[in-house]
Amino acid sequence: MMVRSRSLGQTGIIIIIVLCFFLLRGGRVGKPDVNDVRAGATTSAPAEEENELTAHEVVPLSDIENDLLFRPPIDIALIFTKTKDNFGLQYKFRVAVGSMLRHVTVPLRLHLITDDEGFSTASTIIREIQEGHQYNTNHVKLVYVSAEDFAMEIKSSVRVLQDFFTSHRDTYYRDALFFFSIHLHNLLPGLERVILMDIDIKVKGDIAELYSHFDHFVSTNVIGMAFEQSPVYRHLLAVYRNENKKTLLGSPKSEGGFPGYNSGVVLVNIPRLRQSEIIRNYLERSKLEIATKKYGFQGHLGDQDLYTLIAFDHPELFYTLPCGWNRQLCEWWRKHGYSNVFDQYFNCTDTINIIHGNCKTEIPDGDD
Ligand code: UDP
Ligand code: MN
Repeated sequence: MMVRSRSLGQTGIIIIIVLCFFLLRGGRVGKPDVNDVRAGATTSAPAEEENELTAHEVVPLSDIENDLLFRPPIDIALIFTKTKDNFGLQYKFRVAVGSMLRHVTVPLRLHLITDDEGFSTASTIIREIQEGHQYNTNHVKLVYVSAEDFAMEIKSSVRVLQDFFTSHRDTYYRDALFFFSIHLHNLLPGLERVILMDIDIKVKGDIAELYSHFDHFVSTNVIGMAFEQSPVYRHLLAVYRNENKKTLLGSPKSEGGFPGYNSGVVLVNIPRLRQSEIIRNYLERSKLEIATKKYGFQGHLGDQDLYTLIAFDHPELFYTLPCGWNRQLCEWWRKHGYSNVFDQYFNCTDTINIIHGNCKTEIPDGDD
């Protein structure tokens, strides 16, 4: 069972107490999973049971210990649009949520940014996953967030961003949904910390552990992401790098460089996003003209281009996640002129906790 690292000691004690509790009752201790998080620890022995515990055998838990067992839910946002008859996307959603629930140790609130039909499809898929694995349905709450209404709300902002961060040849990233994260404080205004994740992922670690990275944000950090694991920003900065031979922008991390960010897994501190003057400034056409001109930068990957551009001058706004929390599989640039340097970007030796099949790369089947 995973916990925030600073709570490991306490959790260890709690696990021992709970184990003793079960052993004293002659109970069976099952594999801990999302359904056991609260139920196993809170259910009191039925009165009619033979070996009912006497008062002195019941070990009271302190408030802190109780707090660990009753941890508040984590807020996860998933974009799930244009789902009608899109069985590929529906399958991806099933893999993403199924793998997430399999490993998570805390309750989740899933904010589904979708439409009526997508919400109905998503609810069915989640119910099937829960039934298939006999998960306790109390540990996942679904929240419906209308993608259509929101797309209308941010339309004028998206129009500006599209001019700088989408390509006219490849229209895939033109859709408003690729800029939702920048406006997440308007979409999910009541929340503090949200993880927005792509659905072309397979989760292998505990999302509670990912969430604990919020605790590592320093006071200036607004958004947390892993680095981009391809040389796409080396490519987009080709002219700038040629004119600025010593720059580290677009260079791999192994050379002390900044390869840019990937927005497949994004930790957002909502109040800080709302308050950030710098980010607000970067949504203005005038600022974007100056910044993109300075770096000769024309993006095509939506929000992650904006974050990467902002980070060139304001790295303090960003927290960098370990590569294993967004292990990207896309190898397009290996075959398009960058085979000699590709692995310097692609290498990730951390524990792999989330596999991201970006640019439609299939995630291999394998052990979960
Ligand atoms: N998405 C969606 N409907 C679509 C395309 C994309 O809901 O028709 C969402 C989905 O959550 C997806 C995310 O937008 O994971 C980003 O798109 P994608 O993962 O395909 O981009 P990539 O990671 O390949 O850059
Ligand atoms: Mn993706």
